[in-house]
Amino acid sequence: MLTVETQKVCSRCGGLKDLVGFTIDKRCIGGHAGVCRQCKNRYYRMKYRENPKKYIQLSRIWKEKHPKLVKKYNKGYRKKHKEHIKELHRILYQQNREKLIAKSKAYAEGHKDEILIKSKVYRDSHRKEISKYNRRYKKRKKLEIGGTI
Ligand SMILES: [Zn+2]
Repeated sequence: MLTVETQKVCSRCGGLKDLVGFTIDKRCIGGHAGVCRQCKNRYYRMKYRENPKKYIQLSRIWKEKHPKLVKKYNKGYRKKHKEHIKELHRILYQQNREKLIAKSKAYAEGHKDEILIKSKVYRDSHRKEISKYNRRYKKRKKLEIGGTI
């Protein structure tokens, strides 16, 4: 007889929980881990607190091994938390505004020739867009001036 189990008892806390409360683990009988998510999280949090450096290192190794998954995750995360990230960047910028401005100034000072060449290359390869933009800008200015007179 084939029964589809929808609940499972956690081997750590002993609680009867829905299968969604367990992580999927192909090595385990039934395809789900024997310990529920809450117990697992608690366990890893405790481990992490004992030796954070080790886990930061492990996660770095994992990320290096799975660049595609990381990219996919980050993309999904960015999409889901767009506004939150925007806000975060805004706060970070405001907190470090002077530092960032000084940094970009210093960069500009130290890379004058490079920047000149780059902007020339950009202008040369985007002539159409730039002239279109300029035309539109002039038109708008004209309208603004016309509106105030
Ligand atoms: Zn549990």
